[in-house]
Amino acid sequence: MASSNTVLMRLVASAYSIAQKAGMIVRRVIAEGDLGIVEKTCATDLQTKADRLAQMSICSSLARKFPKLTIIGEEDLPSEEVDQELIEDSQWEEILKQPCPSQYSAIKEEDLVVWVDPLDGTKEYTEGLLDNVTVLIGIAYEGKAIAGVINQPYYNYENNEKQQLREHRSEAKAGPDAVLGRTIWGVLGLGAFGFQLKEVPAGKHIITTTRSHSNKLVTDCVAAMNPDAVLRVGGAGNKIIQLIEGKASAYVFASPGCKKWDTCAPEVILHAVGGKLTDIHGNVLQYHKDV
Ligand code: AMP
Ligand code: MG
Ligand code: MG
Repeated sequence: MASSNTVLMRLVASAYSIAQKAGMIVRRVIAEGDLGIVEKTCATDLQTKADRLAQMSICSSLARKFPKLTIIGEEDLPSEEVDQELIEDSQWEEILKQPCPSQYSAIKEEDLVVWVDPLDGTKEYTEGLLDNVTVLIGIAYEGKAIAGVINQPYYNYENNEKQQLREHRSEAKAGPDAVLGRTIWGVLGLGAFGFQLKEVPAGKHIITTTRSHSNKLVTDCVAAMNPDAVLRVGGAGNKIIQLIEGKASAYVFASPGCKKWDTCAPEVILHAVGGKLTDIHGNVLQYHKDV
């Protein structure tokens, strides 16, 4: 392991703070009450003001600090000057204390591609299923997802609902004093952090799949696997969280629809704890900028 002062570890430390800021923006848009919903390709493919502001915040904050990165965000936005208020400049110091896996220590800024899903689970966000929502920042090198950050702005949402949602700046801990929101991060060769790894009860086969982008192929495929239970929740990031926290044994989605920004960060977290994400043929996914 090399020292932490490498481009990769500095980028992950910044992405952590930037994802937290995006999570705050996602909460603020709900609090302000105007979601500004736009249909992209159809009624289940939506964009809100939170998707737009969070992407502006993430991409501009990253580009200011790391001008040679290739940054690819989900939303198609006009290039305009971004309000200084949306810029996050800090980095999460705990990450800078971690060593960089030696195979990544010589990586240069221009070698990295960052895949940004500013708000994963938009359909569920518009329906008030707020704990399904995540902010995803995935980092790829030579076409492989190697580091990622997932912010879940409404982690502990259920716990906090009765006490009125309050804005918290610190990270979440589960339990009666839980605060709202958490950030999970990981680097291949180092590990994944910010959650408690759990397995599903022994002998149980629980499949998680889409709740709002289903079709006959998706349901037939899940049924053919003869699961003990099916967990239909929104968001690719959220479904990977279901796997690492022992709520589901597999995420199955036999349909086009998921994009690189949906899978890059979640794939790293899953792989860092020994899981596997592939396409329907069992091939690894490619994250080159031109894919
Ligand atoms: P879901 O499991 O339905 O939440 O989908 C996971 C991610 O893939 C979300 O970002 C969705 O927006 C995206 N996605 C999946 N299927 C589709 C689709 N048919 N059209 C648009 N986006 C999709
Ligand atoms: Mg998404
Ligand atoms: Mg999105």
